[in-house]
Amino acid sequence: MAASHPEGAADSALCAENIRIVLVEPSHPGNIGGVARAMKTMGFADLALVNPKRFPDPQAQWRAAAAADVLDSARVFDQLEHAIADCGIVAGTSARQRRIPLPLTTAADLPAWLANRGTGGRPVAILFGREASGLDNEELLRCNLHVAIDSHPGYPSLNLAMAVQIVCYELHKALADKPAALAEQQWDRPLATAAQLDGLYAHLERLLIDIGFHKPQAPRKTLARLRRLLARVGADETEVAILRGALTHIERTLAKADDDRGSGTGSS
Ligand code: SAH
Repeated sequence: MAASHPEGAADSALCAENIRIVLVEPSHPGNIGGVARAMKTMGFADLALVNPKRFPDPQAQWRAAAAADVLDSARVFDQLEHAIADCGIVAGTSARQRRIPLPLTTAADLPAWLANRGTGGRPVAILFGREASGLDNEELLRCNLHVAIDSHPGYPSLNLAMAVQIVCYELHKALADKPAALAEQQWDRPLATAAQLDGLYAHLERLLIDIGFHKPQAPRKTLARLRRLLARVGADETEVAILRGALTHIERTLAKADDDRGSGTGSS
């Protein structure tokens, strides 16, 4: 899908202000400081922390060196959903392929991927996982794509701050060297945000349980696959609203059929 500025807006292009680095449950404050420094050296400032084990912390300040301003403006969230709610694209970084794979790109190809999909001026979240266990499957299912940093297969797992450094470096290089290549084509509607897609999944899940298509106690693989489908397409907010409208209509039609059956039984 292409870019998504509302009518009359200028052509959008990826810019440093729209890149958000999200650390999910980092355990070492030193790494948070290292991430702030990695970001600032590449021109990025939007840092979100989801349930950091220790923050603020003197170790984070020390490792941030002259990037204390990035730490000071970092926002702390208690849920990943809240950290990415307004984002048009969510990228999950991981060295490992998962059971239900997502579209995969490398850190070096990420800028081109984003330009090609179009961000429409919405923030782009790039998620980094826990030092010990990375991102879990539930978190990866909130992502539109999986970003892997090329590394040695024998030991592909980088230190958290170093992984952030490499992704930020690639984005910085692309933004500085070839901004024209990152210009996005116009799209007539804004890209759906993560929160709007979340609403759609929740609605779909409710309906599929109501009609008995999905059993709440059964493995959630089918829903995970539906979720991935919607994230892969890159729907805009009008498309999501149409689907929500259709689901509501189906719910009302089913409720009415139930009522009619109920009153039919009553009168006989
Ligand atoms: N032991 C964890 C790795 C944690 S490293 C695991 O097996 O998943 C901390 C974070 O750095 C990861 O969650 C990921 O966000 C990032 N990272 C480390 N190496 C990476 C790589 N080769 N490609 C992409 N992200 C990487």
